[in-house]
Amino acid sequence: MFLKRIELQGFKSFADKTVIQFDHDITGIVGPNGCGKSNINDAIRWVLGEQSIKSLRSGSSMSDIIFSGSEYRKPVNLAKVSLVFDNTQHIFDSNFEEIEITRQLERANNEASYFINKAPCRLKDINDLVMDTGLGRDSLSIITQGNISAFADAKPEERRSLFEEAAGVAKYKKRKQVSLRK
Ligand code: ATP
Ligand code: MG
Repeated sequence: MFLKRIELQGFKSFADKTVIQFDHDITGIVGPNGCGKSNINDAIRWVLGEQSIKSLRSGSSMSDIIFSGSEYRKPVNLAKVSLVFDNTQHIFDSNFEEIEITRQLERANNEASYFINKAPCRLKDINDLVMDTGLGRDSLSIITQGNISAFADAKPEERRSLFEEAAGVAKYKKRKQVSLRK
């Protein structure tokens, strides 16, 4: 399973529809300060269910992630980002060979919509779909600079929880917590 493509439209600095195609191997994203490299990372986490505005490095409302205009461009009213994953190995619990996960947000109502392979769904459906794949919100699929220093500074018990996440044990712990709450 790997991320084949990201399509962004109206998300942060990406006013126009932008398609980024990835390969099997390592892809580096380079560019001058402020050109939008970190915004791509934010877009991936946004689609995977990130709800924290602070962690998305945005303003005070979720609609601040919508392109807010520039010297030459008017603001837009819709942000839409799709992640397209290869699923030929069926890591996602689905028969489809390609999984497209989409999140969009309209400025007018500040309401998010979610889609899996273009069919409307709930955020929970996306969380459930990605949970078993190691892509979930709290997973280690995205490792930031902060994560690396936190790992180096962590106490042994804290470091253990990172290993549990990487080994796939963490999800069973989370499910246990949820079922104990019911
Ligand atoms: P660095 O190399 O400094 O880390 P970067 O390439 O990671 O830079 P980003 O943080 O991804 O840059 O992009 C910052 C740019 O995105 C800023 O110019 C900012 O104005 C723009 N930006 C962020 N949110 C929006 C928005 N809602 N509308 C328009 N532009 C936005
Ligand atoms: Mg950056």
